[in-house]
Amino acid sequence: MAKTSTDIKSIGIIGAGQMGNGIAHVAAQSGFEVTMVDVNPASLEKALATIAKNMDRQVQKGGLTEADKKAAESRLHTSIKVADLEKCDLIIEAATENEEIKKKIFREVDAIAQKSCLIASNTSSISITRLAAVTSRPEKFIGLHFMNPVPMMALVEIIRGLATSQETYERVLEVAEKMGKTVATSEDVPGFIVNRLLLPMLNEACYALQEGVADVRSIDTAMKLGAGHPMGPLQLADFIGLDTCVAIMRVLHNELGDSKYRPSPLLVKFVDAGWLGKKSGRGFYDYSDPANPKPSR
Ligand code: NAD
Repeated sequence: MAKTSTDIKSIGIIGAGQMGNGIAHVAAQSGFEVTMVDVNPASLEKALATIAKNMDRQVQKGGLTEADKKAAESRLHTSIKVADLEKCDLIIEAATENEEIKKKIFREVDAIAQKSCLIASNTSSISITRLAAVTSRPEKFIGLHFMNPVPMMALVEIIRGLATSQETYERVLEVAEKMGKTVATSEDVPGFIVNRLLLPMLNEACYALQEGVADVRSIDTAMKLGAGHPMGPLQLADFIGLDTCVAIMRVLHNELGDSKYRPSPLLVKFVDAGWLGKKSGRGFYDYSDPANPKPSR
């Protein structure tokens, strides 16, 4: 991990889903005291089990010692109450991609967090300026957008809202570097850098499927072998979560106002069916046999 010093010692993470557990894993491994909060106690249990499994894999591969794993796990705490984050130096929100849910969380966080606490959102697309505006400390609010899976992906996007101070930016940059990440700084625009470019491509793959251009496997094979992508676009959409993909496309469509960003009706239909991708066991692929996912239809 990169060596930087930071005065931030304890990190609160709200939302213990795919992203929250990944951020908690990397933060605890990098020496931070971490408290994960989720409204759903089952998500917290699942998050701890996922972190333990992923750390075991690192130990087997020689990337982590058993002693470092134990030390990292001893720095991990969980709670169902946001109020338990009152002493944190930094709180990172990684809850469901829904503006109203996030605003409610940030009002509560602002009320309980110590005055010096920085607040970050891991949102994939929602305006940092708008989320910051519901708090009394927009200068201490910032976008900190990790990539999935967090322990594997080197990039973090940092997004400054209109009011974010230079000091907040620099302190959060140090945290990202201490976690061993490389930073790309984006303006506060819908989708920032990665999702502004990536999601329209995934959405277009859904249109290609909907229009009968090719089947699921052919679309994914074509982009893997023809464009050198490590995962096909439909597999990647499943991996991100189809509900998250629709939410991001809606933000791009509503805020940029261009019809090219309209979410594919087929993608929306999958979400309506509760087929949210890998996290729900079924999306464009059926994951009932995880080693051998098969196209669902
Ligand atoms: P997820 O569905 O796996 O997890 C969301 C978690 O938030 C769930 O455990 C849920 O119980 C919890 N939650 C919902 N409301 C809450 C509340 N009021 N308080 C506390 N917890 C609450 O979703 P995810 O994929 O982890 O995405 C989380 C965030 O990260 C979203 O903003 C998403 O856009 C962003 N993100 C996702 C990816 C990705 O590839 N999935 C990548 C980067 C950023």
